[in-house]
Amino acid sequence: MQSAPLGSDELDQPIRAVLPALARGASTLARLGIVTPRQALFSLPFRYDDFSELRSLGELIPDEKQSARVRVTDVKVEPGFGRRPQRVIAQLADQSGSAEAIWFGRRYVERRLQVGDELVVSGKVVLRGWRPQFVSPEFSPVGHESVHTARVVPVYRLVAGITQRRVRELLARVLERALPAVIDPLRPAERAGLPALDEALRTAHFPEETADVAAALDRLAFDELLALQLTLAQARVAREELRAASVAIDASELQRLLAAVPFTLTGDQRRAVDEIVADLASERPMRRLLQGDVGSGKTAVAAVALAGVVRAGWQGALMAPTEILARQHFEGLSALLAGLGVRAEFLSGSLPTGEKRRIHAAVEKGEAEVVIGTHAVISEAVTFRRLGLAVVDEQHRFGVAQRAALQAKGDAREPHLLALTATPIPRTLALTFYGDLEISTIRESPPGRLPVRTEVRDRSALPRIEAFLATEAAAGRQSFVVVPLIAESEALTAASAESEVERLRERLPGLRIGLIHGQQRAEARDATMQAFAARDLDLLVATTVIEVGIDVPNATVILIEDAERFGLAQLHQLRGRVGRGVERSYCILLSDATDELARQRLEVVRGSSDGFAIAEADLRLRGAGNLLGTRQSGLPPLRVASLFEPRHLALAERARSLATKLVAADPALAGRPGLVRLRDDFTALEAEGDAA
Ligand code: ADP
Ligand code: MG
Repeated sequence: MQSAPLGSDELDQPIRAVLPALARGASTLARLGIVTPRQALFSLPFRYDDFSELRSLGELIPDEKQSARVRVTDVKVEPGFGRRPQRVIAQLADQSGSAEAIWFGRRYVERRLQVGDELVVSGKVVLRGWRPQFVSPEFSPVGHESVHTARVVPVYRLVAGITQRRVRELLARVLERALPAVIDPLRPAERAGLPALDEALRTAHFPEETADVAAALDRLAFDELLALQLTLAQARVAREELRAASVAIDASELQRLLAAVPFTLTGDQRRAVDEIVADLASERPMRRLLQGDVGSGKTAVAAVALAGVVRAGWQGALMAPTEILARQHFEGLSALLAGLGVRAEFLSGSLPTGEKRRIHAAVEKGEAEVVIGTHAVISEAVTFRRLGLAVVDEQHRFGVAQRAALQAKGDAREPHLLALTATPIPRTLALTFYGDLEISTIRESPPGRLPVRTEVRDRSALPRIEAFLATEAAAGRQSFVVVPLIAESEALTAASAESEVERLRERLPGLRIGLIHGQQRAEARDATMQAFAARDLDLLVATTVIEVGIDVPNATVILIEDAERFGLAQLHQLRGRVGRGVERSYCILLSDATDELARQRLEVVRGSSDGFAIAEADLRLRGAGNLLGTRQSGLPPLRVASLFEPRHLALAERARSLATKLVAADPALAGRPGLVRLRDDFTALEAEGDAA
């Protein structure tokens, strides 16, 4: 076989074109989404089987995957029968003893086996009676190099009708030709001890030893993290070029506003206000994240900022993810804003057309001072005359499209943006993954809050818990029951929620019980939520859709089933659904988990009401991926790097400092096309993820 390496420009052309000898294989790979040699290089195995150590048959260990060097002493083929597949059974021997190998329905096995063959077999061993048996092992003749046996063997994701063996062979052949064409985007000094890219890729697919895999994956993770950090560093630099209106709120005006707020801001709130006011005065567009627990007073801070902006002669917007939340903000804020001399308008898709038109016109003329509504309605439908500040509630990232839409017509200036989030992100993570944002943090809650009493219980306590739910309902108070997300499917989650409702209706016949889950239409969910808020329901069974949710001060109990399945930060946020009124509130974490880590994690939530402490503990115990699903947290989709892996958090720090240095020296990275490509590949992946 001719084996000249590919040229580096050929890495991105179809395999069928640049490796015509592999034409048939190319269509197999295409079914796995692998079209180009570069895609082959980066389609990593999801695990490895270590068959590198050869055992003698006498020392095989049942239920483990292992390799042996054997002689074939007998081959027997049992024809298939009905639904039973054909079986090939070979007798194997070495000096230490004998064993059997069995394959089901694999025609090629029969053709390739003969009595007297010397083979290396690799696969899982079970005990059949007293004899070891290899079940569908891979095998190859002794002395023949093989990617399947007697080594660390990669295992790839497959689709139906394609075998591991085939994929492994194809990838090995593509890699052989493609690896020499790989150009390392990093200079040796920048790699700081990590392997070169071609070596990392080779090892990630076909490691010499399992021990080499970690370093190879670290290198690939580093590249991914560097791509992210380059994006962030360039965004920071690009932002220096952008101009916003300088919204100057003078100190005496601010004092007047603060005096008009019906309570005294906490120290953290006051600091956040000052940080925001300073940002607004600058011509550099603000991109600030305000994080703090539910009820810590973020919205109050935003209200003061919005009022300041209006007093300074500008308009403001407050956007929430759902109509319900937007309305709640409007109801909660119009009094506060009115007290500060500011008129707020509520804008929603469901308003009568005439009313909508009136508000649009008022916004356009600059008469509407603060507009409150959903992200969609405000960013798509409205043109502001003088938008000074846009506040985005519960949105972790600022969508580029949204930002563009918010620009005032004919105005090249960017609005100042403030995002509120109740997902506390520990500082190290925030620096690394929101490196393009400034962050204000509220840690202390307003005084006088009754902490929610939290208990961990197992299912044997259910009857007592149900009696408690009934007592609370009899006293006119309301409860949430949260059923666990079933990772595999939303439909299954919904189904389990429905059966839980049935169970509870049977157990608690006097109670009015409602249900919301992610498979319902938004209107149906909203209607149930409204009914709960209006006290037409005693008990609301829900999947985590209530997490970023509604304020129902009359709800005093939240029961979370299979609590060990949730992230700690998620549990904490769910708990924030209660404890908003004057009555004592309760959070019951129901869990039958017995393993130490699960108990420890639940204990963290039970023992603390500080969202940041909980997030930090979660990070320590489980890694960052668990703080929230990455999708939900707005963290970028990482393929190789894992936020569960403390080593990778350290790599992220290194990537950040390298990216900062590179971009400072060469903002467009004009001299580093390899890095531009790395960044663009990553960005394309992120866009794909967003579209999904
Ligand atoms: P968040 O937006 O962080 O959930 P909010 O701003 O909505 O918190 O505040 C929660 C409740 O606490 C509101 O009723 C608000 O009026 C009140 N509040 C906010 N800040 C203070 C404070 N410093 N002192 C007393 N009450 C406060
Ligand atoms: Mg809020």
